Amino acid sequence: VKNLKKYFPITSPFGRTIGQVKAVENIEFNLHERRTLGLVGESGCGKSTTGRAILRLTEPTNGSVIYKGGDVAKLKKREFKKVRKEMQMVFQDPHSSLNPKKRIGEMIEEPMVIHHIGNKKERMERAMDLLRRTGIREDQYFRFPHEFSGGQRQRIGIARALAVDPTLVVLDEPVSALDVSIQSQVINLLEEIQDEFKLAYLFISHDLSVVRHIADEIGVMYLGHMVEKTSTDELFSEPLHPYTKALLSSIPVPDRKIKRERIILKGDVPSPINPPTGCVFHTRCPYVMDRCIVEKPVLHERYSGHEVACHLYD
Ligand code: SF4
Ligand code: MG
Repeated sequence: VKNLKKYFPITSPFGRTIGQVKAVENIEFNLHERRTLGLVGESGCGKSTTGRAILRLTEPTNGSVIYKGGDVAKLKKREFKKVRKEMQMVFQDPHSSLNPKKRIGEMIEEPMVIHHIGNKKERMERAMDLLRRTGIREDQYFRFPHEFSGGQRQRIGIARALAVDPTLVVLDEPVSALDVSIQSQVINLLEEIQDEFKLAYLFISHDLSVVRHIADEIGVMYLGHMVEKTSTDELFSEPLHPYTKALLSSIPVPDRKIKRERIILKGDVPSPINPPTGCVFHTRCPYVMDRCIVEKPVLHERYSGHEVACHLYD
């Protein structure tokens, strides 16, 4: 993902553009096959928009997504459909993302129908197989979404994403609506099928402790910007950005020997319509310096494989 940017226009009741929501600003990252990148930040930081822009569920304002060496935006319609088949998404709310009037089996078959895969019998067999592999009995095929618990519905959403053999799955807050005990079951399932189906994950979450279990690398986002990116272990042992440190402050440390700097943030996230000048975090940063107010820090490698956007490390 290169230089990805997404602005949403705000229009007046008369249709005139009166402003812009600066949702995503020049996001860059690599995601390798069979690996997991966690995108973390508070709600409204642009992580969902990033995921949606990669799948072109929303058209990026700028920037490119290079998939297997080719720029996705430059593909002809037919080629794009093929690529799009390899990129699937699982949404947060398993209740609203499943059609209540359809049997779950039919819903899992839907992507196969769209992409003309198999005949009716083959699709049904595959749907049943996917149900089984995601931990739902295959005789549940004829049931409706409301007959399942939240955790089961999320399993059905995952089975649906797997139906067309993707290589990348964007998981947008896949366990946030679930009880903690169910969360770990679904995370375990995601890990199992990642190996089995050879998947890369973009795992979007507001919860660092959830991402920690599954991500190889983590990118921390704040107000549309990627402020820090490194391996999961490194992020937890050596966080650099003040915002990352603040996020980590709210997670209990299992090992008492590790002394972690505690940063409690004051105030709210500013509006993405009028983001602060310079460093977008400067209105809440305990280390703010004069230059932070005027000069935007760029993401750069501080240590090998550890990138941060903060003037403290220039
Ligand atoms: Fe804080 Fe300045 Fe670093 Fe921004 S650039 S995080 S305001 S120290
Ligand atoms: Mg979101």
